[in-house]
Amino acid sequence: MATQKEKVVIIGSGWGGYRLGYGIDHNKYDVTLISPENTSAVTPLLASAACGLFDPRLAHEPLRRRDFHAKYIKALVVDIDFDTKTIICQPAFDELKDERFNVDYDRVILVPGCRSNTFGIPGVTEHAIFVKNVANANAVRSRLNDLLEMASLPGTSEDRQRQLLHVAIVGGGPTGIEMAAELTDLFDGDANVLFPHLKGKASVSVYDVAPQILAPFDQKLAEYASSALKTGRVNIKTNTHILKITQNTIETQEDGATGYGMLIWATGNKSVPLVDKLNLRKTEKGLVRILTDDRLNAFALDGNALRSVFAMGDAGDIEGGTLPTTAEVAIQKADYIIKVLNKNDTSPFEYKQRSLVTYTGRRDGVVQGKREYTGYGAWLSWRSGNFFWTRSWRRKILMCYAWFMDWLDGREIIRN
Ligand SMILES: Cc1cc2nc3c(=O)[nH]c(=O)nc-3n(C[C@H](O)[C@H](O)[C@H](O)COP(=O)(O)OP(=O)(O)OC[C@H]3O[C@@H](n4cnc5c(N)ncnc54)[C@H](O)[C@@H]3O)c2cc1C
Repeated sequence: MATQKEKVVIIGSGWGGYRLGYGIDHNKYDVTLISPENTSAVTPLLASAACGLFDPRLAHEPLRRRDFHAKYIKALVVDIDFDTKTIICQPAFDELKDERFNVDYDRVILVPGCRSNTFGIPGVTEHAIFVKNVANANAVRSRLNDLLEMASLPGTSEDRQRQLLHVAIVGGGPTGIEMAAELTDLFDGDANVLFPHLKGKASVSVYDVAPQILAPFDQKLAEYASSALKTGRVNIKTNTHILKITQNTIETQEDGATGYGMLIWATGNKSVPLVDKLNLRKTEKGLVRILTDDRLNAFALDGNALRSVFAMGDAGDIEGGTLPTTAEVAIQKADYIIKVLNKNDTSPFEYKQRSLVTYTGRRDGVVQGKREYTGYGAWLSWRSGNFFWTRSWRRKILMCYAWFMDWLDGREIIRN
């Protein structure tokens, strides 16, 4: 009689979940992935996609692929009973939201990521656009499209045009800075060609409460990035405290109310409801994450590591060895779990620091790693990084085609 395969359930289809779904040996395990999204966002590509460098559909990867062998269930996990090894799920469809079903596991891997934190600032949820997934990138693209057309309506005053074409970005980390860089490239490039009457009227401001942008970078590179952005006429507003967002103004303690046409919220992480709910040990300061040992096994409330429960990605952190919430960490932890499961490897997880790269616009950027450099070389590293982040050959080919067409015929910003 054939022995039953061990059931491994992955919760989440982001960077970590997708990698695990591909990598865990489906001949050895019965692998199931549960997530409300049947695609996996390639987050480093979202800013470029939002600004028309390529079709936003290239910035996510479908789970229903011929070579993706994990079973997929479109649902939200609402709770887990770790004693009976039962996962309680809610179908990810509005019309079925009151239904529940259970999925059993032998081992579960928790990778539900985190969500944007608005820090309770009034008006953010109602008026800001977040940048977490392809739907958000499409929202930015669509709003840009509307703003450019609204500013082009006959009789629109110059003041009104300037307000409509002011993009306020909250968050001076890599996500906010890359968004600012892409927007200035767009405003100084194809938008000028397609909307010559709006030339010089668009502007981008980046707001951050910290004294310096790009916190993960060392001071010299952060200062370089800051001056590169200012050369591209990005208004950098550090040490700035946001009090309130209204439909068309951002109000700060330092400057009062300033008008905007689009506000992008690119800062702050908050735990997802599932992480808040689970009876596991969690970090006590900052972002709430599930605490694990160096084998990535989650700790129960009594302090014992649960060998059947892994936690990783943005939602998990190693006790005493905290790591940032990045795709790089999620990928390395997923590869480690794949090795543990496929090869019974018992060595502890070790993180290998890779280079940090941020684009600052006008074919310039900053790279921090074994070697630190800026300028055109940094832009090339960022562009090639974009290519390597893309996870399938199909999308790599489509991306090269899009870049070629942008070079030949300009970006397509007017079509969603
Ligand atoms: C715009 C942007 C750009 C970025 N650029 C970079 C970069 O250049 N380099 C880098 O290293 N990192 C980058 N990051 C960070 C990186 O994207 C995250 O660290 C990474 O996505 C974390 O992976 P994850 O698998 O833990 O979670 P996520 O990728 O966030 O995936 C979480 C998944 O869990 C699902 N989920 C949530 N709750 C539940 C539930 N209850 N039940 C089932 N499923 C659930 C979600 O729907 C989602 O599919 C960027 C992030 C953003 C937003």
